[in-house]
Formats: sequence, structure tokens, C-alpha cells
Amino acid sequence: MTTIKLRNLRKEFDDVVAVNGIDLTIEDGEFLVIVGPSGCGKSTTLRLLAGLEQATDGRIGMNGRDVTDTEPKNRNVAMVFQNYALYPHMTGRRNITFGMKSTGSFTDEDIDRRVEEVAETLDITDLLDRKPQAMSGGERQRIALGRAIVRDPDAFLMDEPLSNLDAKLRIQMRAELTRLHAELQTTTIYVTHDQTEAMTLGERVVVMNDGQIMQVDSPQVLYDFPENRFVAEFIGDPAMNMIDVTVEHWTAVHDAFELPLPSDGGEDGITETSPAARQSKEQQAAILGIRPEDFYLAREYPDLGDETFTATVDVTEPLGDSLLIHCSVGDAAFKIQAEPRTSLQTGDEITVTYDPERLHLFDPE
Ligand code: ADP
Repeated sequence: MTTIKLRNLRKEFDDVVAVNGIDLTIEDGEFLVIVGPSGCGKSTTLRLLAGLEQATDGRIGMNGRDVTDTEPKNRNVAMVFQNYALYPHMTGRRNITFGMKSTGSFTDEDIDRRVEEVAETLDITDLLDRKPQAMSGGERQRIALGRAIVRDPDAFLMDEPLSNLDAKLRIQMRAELTRLHAELQTTTIYVTHDQTEAMTLGERVVVMNDGQIMQVDSPQVLYDFPENRFVAEFIGDPAMNMIDVTVEHWTAVHDAFELPLPSDGGEDGITETSPAARQSKEQQAAILGIRPEDFYLAREYPDLGDETFTATVDVTEPLGDSLLIHCSVGDAAFKIQAEPRTSLQTGDEITVTYDPERLHLFDPE
């Protein structure tokens, strides 16, 4: 059982506030991903958990024990780093077992047995007698994972562990980490700046910005119901369209079009991020958010909606599995993700429709 609680956690470096009051509970056996842009405080949060940084304020609890001031070696967590952090002069086996004996928790037989088990789990038996320079990046990262697993820690703390691998290997290792987690069920906190990695790995995903948590939810809920503009734009590729509108009587009004908003809102409807704007009888400025795949070409989906407007094609980008249409209407520019092989050219006029249930409304900055 490993539950981790962060309460009002804060870390300042001179005049930089790296972590600005984080409250979070990580459940036993959970795979939790922390995602956000570079410099938002992800690594510092992880290093605070590992005890590699001292908190300026706030508390860290593990299994009901306050470990805020506990030495790293007494926290029983294992870290996996982006650069693997292997000893170059040691074999794979020595890298995995280094320091285990001195903990006093493992006999020689225990260590031998556990290395064999872990090597089998990670398919690294052939690497045990090699030194890191004779291994590929992916192989080194497997050894680093082996070193974390062999100790049977209460939690894994992973800091961008796949960032140095090429794209193909990264996808393969993602699947491997998911399989490993299903097998070991060890509480894992995984930091990445890559939203695709976060969405594919995380059971729950924490989106951070500027040292603060912007939203914590399952990947699908983050995607479907972003609570604020930051999450809406950070999660999803291509990014959500954001269009300046004024809202009046449940209608988003732009110079060139008017989009009626669903009047009932609520759980399955429009994101309740700006209820004041939505319900206002007065005109109120707002940002209308809609994902590129929630706009449709009316000619491809004649039955979809009554609400249509006309836009002009600026550029088209074939993505293989879809066509990304950059278009504009008045001074609003946005993207539509259409069926692949749709034949369109710059300057073409298109009739656009949309699913009103998939509109989002955000307060302007
Ligand atoms: P992320 O992992 O999201 O990229 P970090 O946690 O590494 O972000 O950094 C958060 C902020 O804290 C950044 O502004 C970074 O420059 C600053 N920071 C991190 N570590 C230190 C340090 N040891 N000394 C001074 N500033 C630091």
C-alpha cells in the first residue's frame, strides 16, 4: 500500500517560485502523469517527493507518515531519469545491484534471484554483463528501469525517462511501461512535457503551469471537458481553435457568424467554464473553443446540423489519416480536421457545420 499526499507544497529558488502550493493525493497503485510546459515545476515536484529538494513550505505524506524532512534514502522510492544515470565503468548487473547490499535489506542470494527475475521481466538478461557504452539508448534505459524495479520500492518516480529515445522506440517503451505497471502495480509518478505521452500512459493526468495545478483528471475527461483555456490548448494535437466572440442569449456572436450555444449546458454539454458569459443577457466577451475535429464540412455530413457558416480555405495540410484545413472567416482563423483525400484548394469557399455539444466557452484573459 502506497498512498502519497502533497499538501500546499511549495518550493522557491531565490526569487523563482518553482512549485506554488500543490495539493494532490496519489492513490495506491496508481499511474499518475504530471504534464506541462518546460519550466512549470514538474521536475521540482518529483525531486521534492524523492527528497532531492527541501520544500520551502507544505508537507509530503507517504502511507500516513510525514516524510517532508526524511532523508532520500529513507523514503523507499526509486527514481528513473532522462539521462539514465548509469555508472559507465560498471556492467549492467552491477549498475542494477549497486548499493543494494549496503542497505542491509537484501542477502546475496536475494540480490541474485531478484536480478534474474527483473532481467527476465525486462528482457535484459543479455545486457547484464555489458557496460553502458556497449548498449543502445533504449537498452540503457531498460537497465535504469531494472535498477528501480529490483529494490521493490514503494513508488517509482520517473522524470522524462523516454525523452532521449527516438520516436519509434519511445512508442514501444510506452507500451512496455504500461505492461510493466499492470504487472507490478507499483504507485508511479511520471513527469513529461509531451501531452501524447501523458495521455497514453496516465490513468490520471495532472496538468501544471507556472508551478500550479491547472486540472487533474483522466485523459478523456481532460480532453472532453478542459476546465480552463490553458488545459484546452495544451491537451490535444492539433490544438483547439480559440475564437474571440461576444455571447448574448446563448449565442456566440462573431462579425462573420453566429453560433447558437446549447441552452442546457451541464455535464454532457458545453464546458461550464464561463457560465456567467453564457447566461448573460448582456453582451459579454468570451473565447469560443472548438477542436478541429468537431468542425465538419457540411457537404461530407449533410445530416449533421442545421447551423452552418461559410469560410475560405487558406492552406491545406495532409496528415495522412486526415486533412487539416486552415481557413478563415472575417478576422477569425481556425482549423478543421476533415476526411483524408478531401479535394480542396486555397481560396475555395466551404460550408462548415459543427456539433453544438462540443463547443467550449472560456473567459477572456
Ligand atoms: P520542469 O520540470 O517543468 O521543466 P522545473 O521543475 O525543472 O520545471 O523548474 C521550475 C522552475 O524552477 C524553472 O523556472 C527553473 O528554472 C527553476 N529551477 C529549477 N531548479 C532550480 C535550481 N536548482 N535553482 C534555481 N532555479 C531552479
